[in-house]
Amino acid sequence: MPATTINDIVALCKRRGFIFTGSEIYGGLGGTYDYGPYGVELMKNIRETWWDAMVYQRDDIEGLDAALISNRLLWKYSGHEGGFSDALVECKKCGNRMRQDKMKDPAKCDACGGADLTAPRPYMLMMGLSIGATADGAVNAYLRPETATTTYTNFKNILDSVPHKLPFGIVQIGKAFRNEISPRGFVFRMREFEQAEMQYFVRPGTDMDWWEKWKQIRLDWWVNALGIPREKFRFQPHEKLAHYAKAAADIEYEFPDGFDEVEGIHNRQDFDLGSHTKSQDEFAIAATVQKNTDSTAKLSYSDPQTGESFLPCVVETAMGVNRAMLAVMLNAYAAEDLGDGKSRVVLKLKPKLAPVKAAVIPLARNVPELLTAAEKIVADLRALGIGRIETENSGNIGKNYRRHDEIGTPICITVDHQTLEDKMVTLRMRDDMSQIRIPITDVPKKVKEIIG
Ligand code: ATP
Repeated sequence: MPATTINDIVALCKRRGFIFTGSEIYGGLGGTYDYGPYGVELMKNIRETWWDAMVYQRDDIEGLDAALISNRLLWKYSGHEGGFSDALVECKKCGNRMRQDKMKDPAKCDACGGADLTAPRPYMLMMGLSIGATADGAVNAYLRPETATTTYTNFKNILDSVPHKLPFGIVQIGKAFRNEISPRGFVFRMREFEQAEMQYFVRPGTDMDWWEKWKQIRLDWWVNALGIPREKFRFQPHEKLAHYAKAAADIEYEFPDGFDEVEGIHNRQDFDLGSHTKSQDEFAIAATVQKNTDSTAKLSYSDPQTGESFLPCVVETAMGVNRAMLAVMLNAYAAEDLGDGKSRVVLKLKPKLAPVKAAVIPLARNVPELLTAAEKIVADLRALGIGRIETENSGNIGKNYRRHDEIGTPICITVDHQTLEDKMVTLRMRDDMSQIRIPITDVPKKVKEIIG
């Protein structure tokens, strides 16, 4: 049986050290979560899979890791300071505050069903900061609400230092902060979350083709890299386009409550480079941008053949890493009836994504030869550099299997008394619980083969 509610995952995350409530021992802080030992590993594996596909497997994409705190002017010219707000509606009866565009029924309170609501009013989503010794604590910087803007402001730095011909892209993975009105759905909507975004710079006129191409490339990644079946996804075109967008669609995953966004693919035309460039008048900017009197850099591209200078268009792919992890866990979760009143919960993760790649279990804690044999296997597996390998010496094999099924460990390797005589061990596979016995010397090769 797959996970039927998010609560199945919430409980597993807490029980097995994936995700905890932020500031928990002081009553929590809405929209924040702390990632525990296995959550950290799963997030890292998803991030690395994305980076591998976007950077290492291509010639045309570079990485960037820009500051999380940035000068106010970035957010003035990006349009966020003036316009990055949601419409807030408050219920006069119960005080519930809601984001208007996410209300189940725009005429009724989501919490109490009351119809006496305030008129919608804009609510600033960016978190302002007062950094340095300001006299009055006034906001002079912001925590970034997305990674994209600092990619645009570094466009010239990257092009000057690591030259590329169009089309080429820049990616970032990192934290973003939004003062969401109503965080919900566990890690689905948080106030501090992580994005993996790409900005792909293309010649104007080719932008729609690239937008279509990137929609497909990104959907293929969700299916092939994360191992989630194609039918769990759909494309959802944006009903109302943002003023800067020429085309936009979301990749939606089928969560237990229905389809919802996990990644956005946007054709942002020349809005971003046009907004942040100096000498705007020199370029025929197609998007509507505000006049920039502060930028110190021309964010144009010079064609090496013709010498023509112009502002590239941008196709953006914007994924939420926390939502990716949630989708991966929901998809992998299974509660299985094993007969005889026995059952198990198992995370059938793609082996490459599993937080622990293999667990080595000496069957008795008090037999030094067994522990030595187990230690040697662990050392040989760690030398493979494939990720986390655990030694289990709690002595209870049933409990060990149950724990490793729940955190998605693909292989458990048992060292028993027989091992000391025949130099063989038992490999137990997570998904079908099948067991094979192989020579110790074959273990690294076999594990590598399974993990990929
Ligand atoms: P939404 O409509 O859900 O608020 P968005 O369209 O504003 O999202 P983008 O700005 O396109 O989202 O961000 C790209 C991705 O970042 C989203 O597809 C989502 O996976 C993730 N994301 C956005 N906001 C949050 C959040 N508050 N918590 C967790 N992930 C988020």
